[in-house]
Amino acid sequence: MFDGSYNTSLVLFSLVVAILASYTALDMAGRITTAEGKSAHWWLAGGSGAMGLGIWSMHFIGMLAFSLPIPLGYDALITLLSLLIAIATSAFALWLVSQKELPWLRLGCGALLMGTGVAGMHYTGMAAMRMTPGIRYIPSIFCLSVLIAIVASGVALWIAFRLRRQSSQVWLLRAGAGVVMGCAIVGMHYTGMAAAQFPLGSACGAARDGVSIGWLALVIIIVTLAVLAIALIISVLDLRLESRTMALAISLAEANQELTHLALHDNLTKLPNRVLFEDRLDQAIRGADREKTRFGLMFMDLDGFKAINDAYGHHTGDLLLVEVAQRIVGNVRAQDTIARVGGDEFVLITNVGEPTDAATVADKLLRAIREPFQVAGHELRVSASIGIAMYPGNGVHQHELLTNADAAMYHAKALGRNTSCFFEVSMNANVHEQLQLAQDLRSALERRELILHYQPKFEAPNGPITGVEALVRWAHPTRGLIPPDEFIPLAEKTGLIVPLDEWVLNEACRQMREWRDAGHTSWTMAVNLSALQFSHARLVETVREALQRHALEPRCLTLEITESTAMRDADASLKILQQLHDMGVRISIDDFGTGYSSLLYLKRLPASELKIDRGFIRDLAHDTEDAAIVSAIVALGQTLNLKIVAEGVETEAQQQFLTRLGCNSLQGFLLGRPMPAAQFIETISQIDVLDGVA
Ligand code: C2E
Ligand code: MG
Ligand code: MG
Repeated sequence: MFDGSYNTSLVLFSLVVAILASYTALDMAGRITTAEGKSAHWWLAGGSGAMGLGIWSMHFIGMLAFSLPIPLGYDALITLLSLLIAIATSAFALWLVSQKELPWLRLGCGALLMGTGVAGMHYTGMAAMRMTPGIRYIPSIFCLSVLIAIVASGVALWIAFRLRRQSSQVWLLRAGAGVVMGCAIVGMHYTGMAAAQFPLGSACGAARDGVSIGWLALVIIIVTLAVLAIALIISVLDLRLESRTMALAISLAEANQELTHLALHDNLTKLPNRVLFEDRLDQAIRGADREKTRFGLMFMDLDGFKAINDAYGHHTGDLLLVEVAQRIVGNVRAQDTIARVGGDEFVLITNVGEPTDAATVADKLLRAIREPFQVAGHELRVSASIGIAMYPGNGVHQHELLTNADAAMYHAKALGRNTSCFFEVSMNANVHEQLQLAQDLRSALERRELILHYQPKFEAPNGPITGVEALVRWAHPTRGLIPPDEFIPLAEKTGLIVPLDEWVLNEACRQMREWRDAGHTSWTMAVNLSALQFSHARLVETVREALQRHALEPRCLTLEITESTAMRDADASLKILQQLHDMGVRISIDDFGTGYSSLLYLKRLPASELKIDRGFIRDLAHDTEDAAIVSAIVALGQTLNLKIVAEGVETEAQQQFLTRLGCNSLQGFLLGRPMPAAQFIETISQIDVLDGVA
């Protein structure tokens, strides 16, 4: 047998090429998996070429590193065939690992095919020497080389499949795997070579007409390295491009998502806005139709929010809205839709079986909102008015449902706020009327359609007159005289109450000046303030200006605020009341007994008068409970050094009873109705005349 020998540097080169080819193969496998459409085919074609060429050159450089004592050469055609086998095998391997799954059976078959392919390439390449007599192979080592090829292929396929996803650490793993795979391929080759035996006297048939070895080695090494390098560079560049495109696509998708979110949600509370809400309402209607279920639509409006906004500024108002939204969310089920559709308006779609369930939900919300809020260092209190429309029943499409829930909400407001109300057909007419009225009210101020009536207050039991209360009326061009209860709430809702009450204050002061000039110097003028006006920042200034304008002493003006207004935001009220009191203006607590005053707070109020609500006076003669309350209020007032006024005195029995209980002043239809200024003076002078006669 001839003794073969190896050129060490070429052997090392073959190892380098094997490792590089393996790394390229792994990288290509990754590219094929992540590429889309046509480019995946290109990567498969390019990858198979590069990998096939790589494996083949490793093998061929290994062959060139081998020398026998006789000249050696290689048949070009057979060598080309071995190259084709290498490329085909690579194509198969890359295709296999780019599949979605690689079950064990498929991996096994793949390893068998690929291993046979690699071994086939190797032994075809050996055949290119065209030895005569033919090379003899030692069977055991031959089998071992094929086994190594199969096992190495199996491991290579498995690794390539595992590492095909791109990630930050993958190239390191891939480099390690490349070394393992490279060594396996080299191992297979040199085991195969070790199996080959060349009998003494053999001749290489390709030595003469084959290609010369010297420069062939160089060309192959250079070409292979170039191909592998180019493949890797392209791969890296493409990966960069892809990841940049991917990053762009991701940020675009995120921006899109954000835009959609913004378009569908309220910026402040992060709740769905009207657009999203209408969509959900449509869905709810369709769902209820399909599944024959029902749901309740609730329209919620905060009571007294405007006042807070005016008193503490928009920032605090905003914070309060956020808190309210959170409280609402915390008190409804996750599948309910809650949206903010206006300044302080929220709507809720809640799946309920029966209207009573809707009422329970509404009650829960009312209770939650009523609890004080801690916002920006203030303790704020609001309540809500809720209108409920049921589907099916209170409307067939979303617009109708919403309008009806809104109408029910208005009704809840009219019922005194802090309550909920189910929609009824009769409410609808009301809504249109209210809208029209709100529009009219806007122009009423300019057109001077508002007038003041004056009602006298008498020292108990029947005089003399201690003062008058100015009560506003609206002389509507078509509806006639409208009482304040019908338009004051509307004015409060629309914010018109501020200019309205300013006008009342001025007009009352002007009238007072006139009367004082006419000699009625002992009278005081009482003017009502709405909750909104009361928390308006300019109130103190407005009062001061009105007094100065008509040259009135502050002590002849009494400002009436209702008990609930004074209690709503106790500390802030106290501050404003104190300023007014310091100015010399008298403060009267109106409708006393209907709110929930705390005694402690009452003690600190700089008020000079309590007006017992006329609700207690009405049934005084029959209702012992009312009598007990009135006498308790009188006792309380006396202790706190407050004058007690009883309003709504209609009968002589009431007049006597209240006088006996200790009320200081009486006001009511019995003694004098509210009337225009001119009529007032006329009536008074008649009384004086009568008194004079008597
Ligand atoms: P209020 O301040 O408690 O006014 C007393 C109300 O009781 C007046 O109703 C008066 O007409 C009525 N009244 C007086 N004596 C009797 C009686 O013997 N029997 C009965 N049943 N009622 C009597 P009015 O004028 O309809 O005013 C209602 C409410 O509207 C007032 O209650 C007050 O809160 C508000 N208001 C009136 N004028 C103004 C105003 O200029 N500004 C503001 N913000 N509110 C006003
Ligand atoms: Mg009053
Ligand atoms: Mg009153």
